[in-house]
Amino acid sequence: MKARFLDMYLLAVLILLSLPAVAAAEEMPELPLAGDMAETVSVSALWRTGGSEFEHAGQVEYGLSMAAIVEAVQIAEPSSAVLVTQHAFINVPPEDLGAWQAVYAPTDGWWWAYRSDGSHRVVGPLAGVVIVAEQKGPADGLRIITPTENMAAMGIGELYIEQLRASRRRCPTAQPGLQAAADFLADGTTLDISDLLAGQNFQELILVGARGEMEAYSGGDLWLRGHGVAYRTEDGHVVVDEVRGLIVDPPKQRITDAYRDAKALLDEGNAVLLVILDGFGYHQYRYALEHGMAPFMAQLPPAAQAMAVYQPVTNAGLAAILTGVTPDENGVFSRRQRMLEAPDIFEAAHRLGMDSAYLVGDRQIVATSIAQKLHLDTDGSGTTDDNIVQSALQYMGSQAGPDLLAVHLKDIDRAGHNYGEFDGRTMQAVAEADQYLAALVEAWHGEVIITVDHGMHTTETGGDHGYLRFEDMFVPYIVTEGGRR
Ligand SMILES: [Zn+2]
Repeated sequence: MKARFLDMYLLAVLILLSLPAVAAAEEMPELPLAGDMAETVSVSALWRTGGSEFEHAGQVEYGLSMAAIVEAVQIAEPSSAVLVTQHAFINVPPEDLGAWQAVYAPTDGWWWAYRSDGSHRVVGPLAGVVIVAEQKGPADGLRIITPTENMAAMGIGELYIEQLRASRRRCPTAQPGLQAAADFLADGTTLDISDLLAGQNFQELILVGARGEMEAYSGGDLWLRGHGVAYRTEDGHVVVDEVRGLIVDPPKQRITDAYRDAKALLDEGNAVLLVILDGFGYHQYRYALEHGMAPFMAQLPPAAQAMAVYQPVTNAGLAAILTGVTPDENGVFSRRQRMLEAPDIFEAAHRLGMDSAYLVGDRQIVATSIAQKLHLDTDGSGTTDDNIVQSALQYMGSQAGPDLLAVHLKDIDRAGHNYGEFDGRTMQAVAEADQYLAALVEAWHGEVIITVDHGMHTTETGGDHGYLRFEDMFVPYIVTEGGRR
């Protein structure tokens, strides 16, 4: 009994003795890390698990390579690491990341080191690290657009470095200090909106969020912190958590108006044909009209320039058109979601006692309240658009045709991906879609809404969309009557 008590006593003493060491490890200061990152990671946690030993000046040091940090933040490589020291920014290019390290010592805090000629050199104190991605993907950084121009595309890393440089310039003392830089990196900073807009005036400013939020700017600020930018109101309330960009003076028309316009027309007892062209930017519409590639559309009322949603991809565009609300409300903000979390126009028609049909290609992209009619390329023409149009004309010819007929045509998008926005072959696809539109609109007895899920921009290998770019974000929107000509 006594012996066991002693054992427990010894155990308790041992635990107490071991506590300070544990506590010291827990209190290890975090090395601030900011910039282009998919994930926010703790450098001290990484250091404990992913560091490596090396010898320096006869002592064993323990360091974490910049390559390990860049890998942990899961940014698209290549990326650079910018080491923020007391006085300077040291840019470590992608190929050198393995040789540069963050070194921690309880007495000295964080230092930076690099390997040269087989030995390590520990050089000086380190305030933090900023990751700078060399290429910006659709979801990286902050983009600023107008309806006709891509004004700026800034990486979060670039923004951090720029802001830190500016704050050092503003600093009245010659040496702002390591701690000030570390605090800056850890706490973030507010961005001056008029600086971002390079002084351009605006009537309206939309803040676009990662989940497709579209919040009108109404005072407050943009807060750069960690791996992104948040929009805060004046009382400090975060309205948009991850701002992807700013749209300066957007057009009044939105693709979400398709739902409201269709519903209003159905309410008045009209039949409605909703034609959704895939991947046809407003700039492509203008180009096609100017080059005589869309003679039927040229006869229709001029298209309004309409704002699509973010991300400008088919899932999100269709969901916005069919539900009338933005992605943050309908749940579809990228290619990964397909379930609508808001009622669609077919449900609205059903409530009015009206029948609907939704004609699509060989697969369903978003799930709707009615079963979609799929179409295969039965004639081997290499496309399903002709099959869909045939099918739509049959619906129109039948006695019990639907009151709301929605049609989704994809060939312009496919050509755009293959050849780019203005290529002759893309314009040929526009000309074919124009003929399909002519056939559909002429045969339809009722009202017609023509709009588009997203636009298209040219890349080195063809075309793409999904970015906050004016080519991707603005599309034509036409309301007209059937039975023309
Ligand atoms: Zn596409």
